[in-house]
Amino acid sequence: MGDGNGCVGTLSELDTLIQLLAKLPGLGPRSARRAALHLIKRRESLMTPLATALARAAEAIRPCPNCGNLDTVEPCAICRDPERDDSTICVVENLADLWALERTGAFRGRYHVLGGTLSALDGIGPEDLTIDRLVARVEAGQELILALSATVEGHTTAHYLADRLANSEVRLTRLAQGVPIGGELDYLDDGTLTAALNARRAL
Ligand SMILES: [Zn+2]
Repeated sequence: MGDGNGCVGTLSELDTLIQLLAKLPGLGPRSARRAALHLIKRRESLMTPLATALARAAEAIRPCPNCGNLDTVEPCAICRDPERDDSTICVVENLADLWALERTGAFRGRYHVLGGTLSALDGIGPEDLTIDRLVARVEAGQELILALSATVEGHTTAHYLADRLANSEVRLTRLAQGVPIGGELDYLDDGTLTAALNARRAL
């Protein structure tokens, strides 16, 4: 099975599978071995359908060129939805946060996925995030809800965005109380997240 990857060729299929599984978030080598054995035991019911789903997803799913959401259509379903409110853009760090907000059903505007937060420590600068694209897409009169983590990086990113958007005539707000210090949106329960969204305040 030549896949052009030289180091994969020297490993057995099982080793390759375990090594790849170990790269998933939350899975170390030990749990990757368990996951591999679990898959092999359930070849028909799990492993083959999973392989098919992965191949289809790799083929079809693309980041939306407008907002960064993932979908099989461009622009994504949220950007295309005529029922959603164009006057509000919710700026989130990652897709997990977008999904968390969508789960609450409390937000009916558009989104912008930054792809992370600014972090000098991790060497993540503005050019590594979709900030230019955000600055380019905002329109005067819009409200931008900065739904960023209550972390140093989240605050740094919010202040940088405020600077970059100073002349854009947009209104910047941020999520209110309920977001714990150092907390990430994805871990909040729906009620807390909805309350934080509804009680948002000016940045
Ligand atoms: Zn989109």
